[in-house]
Amino acid sequence: MIHAAELIRRKRDGERLAGDEVAELVLAYARGEVPDYQMAAFCMAVYFQGLDGAETSALTDAMIASGETIDLSGGIGRKVVDKHSTGGVGDKTSLAVGPIVAACGVPFGKMSGRGLGHTGGTLDKLESIPGFRVELTTEEFVAQVREVGLAIIGQSANLVPADKLLYGLRDVTATVDNVSLIAASIMSKKIAAGADAIVLDVKVGGGAFMKTLDAARELAVMMGELGRHAGREVACLLTDMDQPLGHAVGNALEIRETIATLTGAGPADLTELVLAASAQLLAFSDLAVDRDEGRQRAAAALQDGSALAAYERWIAAQGGDPAEEALPSAPVVREVVAPSAGVVRSLGAIDVGMAALRLGAGRRTKEDVIDHAVGVLCLKKRGDDVRDGDVLAQVHARDEEAAQAAAADVLAAYEIGDEAPRPSSIVLETIV
Ligand code: URA
Repeated sequence: MIHAAELIRRKRDGERLAGDEVAELVLAYARGEVPDYQMAAFCMAVYFQGLDGAETSALTDAMIASGETIDLSGGIGRKVVDKHSTGGVGDKTSLAVGPIVAACGVPFGKMSGRGLGHTGGTLDKLESIPGFRVELTTEEFVAQVREVGLAIIGQSANLVPADKLLYGLRDVTATVDNVSLIAASIMSKKIAAGADAIVLDVKVGGGAFMKTLDAARELAVMMGELGRHAGREVACLLTDMDQPLGHAVGNALEIRETIATLTGAGPADLTELVLAASAQLLAFSDLAVDRDEGRQRAAAALQDGSALAAYERWIAAQGGDPAEEALPSAPVVREVVAPSAGVVRSLGAIDVGMAALRLGAGRRTKEDVIDHAVGVLCLKKRGDDVRDGDVLAQVHARDEEAAQAAAADVLAAYEIGDEAPRPSSIVLETIV
C-alpha cells in the first residue's frame, strides 16, 4: 500500500526520495490508485524543492514503464533519428528537418504534440494539409519510417500514459515550469518513441518556457543525461525565442514557409536552424559523416530538389496533398504598417503568438477547434530597417473585426527605435 501523503510530506520538507519511492508513486498514479489531488500536491512540492538527478532519472524511467515502448531501429534495421523542440512561436523546424534528413538517406521517426497557449504544435500545422493523417498505428509508423524514410505522427495513447495524466495536471496547477518535471516529461516520450539519436531544440527567451540561457542550459544538460542513461545520443541546440522563428505564425502559413525553406528560399533564421539541426542529426546517423559534411549534404538537399521531393513523398504517404495550392487561405489579409521610420529593436514572440491564438490559430482549451488558415506573417524582424509606411506584418484573418484587433496586437509587439539591437544568431549554444 503506497503512503502518498508521507512521500508528499517528505518532498515538501526537502528530503530526497529513493528511486523506488518515486517510481511507486508515479506508477500508482498512472494506475488510478493515487488521486489527482495528491499528485498535484506532490508536483507542487517538487516545484518548490526540486528533484535531484537520481530522482529525475527514476521519474523518467517510471513514466516510460507506465506504457508501451517502440523498438524503432530493431523494426527498421537502421539507426533512426528524431528532433524535438521545447516549444515556441513560428517553430516549423521539424517539418523541414525531417525531409532533409530523409533526403540524405537517414530514417527520421517522430511523435509530436499539439500546441497549447501561445506556442504552436507540429500536429496542428500538419493537419492544415488536406487529407493528412496524424494518427497511425505503431505498426504503420514503423513501416512508414522503414519504407518512406520519414514519419511524424501524434503520440500513441499507450506511450507514456503517465505523462499524459501528469502534464494535464501540471497544466492546471501551475507546476509546468519546473526543470526536472519538463526534462522527465520530454525525455520519457522521446526514449519510449524509440529513436537512437535525438537533437533537442531548447528555446530560450520571452516566448519560451526557459527565459534565460542559464535555465535553458540546466534543462539541456539534464535531458542529455537522461537520454544517455537510456543509451541514446543527445545533442541540444539552445536557440533564440525572443522573437518568432521565420516570418510565419499560424498553421497553413507555416506549412507554406516550410515548403519555401525546402526549396532554399526560406527566411535566414529558420534556414540556419534547420541546417544546424540537420547537420547534427546526420553526424549522429549511421552515414559516418561529421557535422561539417552533414551540413554540406543538408544544404545540397535544399538546392537539388531532393528535400522537397522527400517532403512530397512523406505528405502523400500520410494521405495528404503536398501541393501548396491545396492549403487553406484566410479570406481577409490586412497589412500592419510602420508608424515611424527606424529599426526594429524587438518583436515580442509571446505577443505575436497570442495575436495568432486570438485569430483562431491556436487553442486556449484542449477542446477549441483550430482555424488552419489564419495567422500572422512578420515581414520585418529584429534588426531590420523600416521606413515610415513600410509593411511590418500581414494579418490573415477570418473576418475584418478579427483582423483589426490582431493588427493592433501585432503593431504593439514591435518596438521600433533609432538604435539597432545587438546582432545575435539563432543558435546561441550547442551542447553535445
Ligand atoms: N513539453 C513537454 O512535452 N513536457 C513539458 O513538461 C514541457 C514541454
